[in-house]
Amino acid sequence: MQITTFEFPIELVNTISKVLPLVYYPNSQLMTPIAEIDSLNDSVIQHAADMVATMIANNGVGLASNQTVCDKPMRIATFNFSSPERTNILAIFNPTIISSSNPQKFSEGCLSFPDIFQELTRDHRVIVKGFDYKWQECELELRGIPAVCIQHEIDHLNGKTFIDDLSFLKKAMLKKKLKNNAK
Ligand SMILES: [Zn+2]
Repeated sequence: MQITTFEFPIELVNTISKVLPLVYYPNSQLMTPIAEIDSLNDSVIQHAADMVATMIANNGVGLASNQTVCDKPMRIATFNFSSPERTNILAIFNPTIISSSNPQKFSEGCLSFPDIFQELTRDHRVIVKGFDYKWQECELELRGIPAVCIQHEIDHLNGKTFIDDLSFLKKAMLKKKLKNNAK
């Protein structure tokens, strides 16, 4: 199913975007909550387009602004729900979850934690609210993996990563693995 609400035009990405370097854990930018955007302007659109290009270049399904090296992270999350048949790119500005239900376990990855996968319980049905790239306020219901992705990216924008709720021991083991992977 193609999602049209919050769709971001790929033509814009192809025309103006540049791929940004990624920020990796434990960079402090990942632990810092990102303020809401007041209004739309050229630099907001440019950053969203750069985020989409960066997400696609890294084969990501979702990306939060503070996962990229940029002047100032903005409260934007982008998603790539494309299928082999159709390009389906979303950008949500100031995203917020307004309701969620149906908790299930799912194994998640994250571009800021290369080669780390972590099973988490999250709601598999959410309604998200935010603004699209024309600054229209929209609401969207998501189920399954897209619902998990949106919660993962909103957590990033709130300065939270997918290892934050793990036990001290599990976190310590993951940090060791990350260090070894980086070598
Ligand atoms: Zn992530």
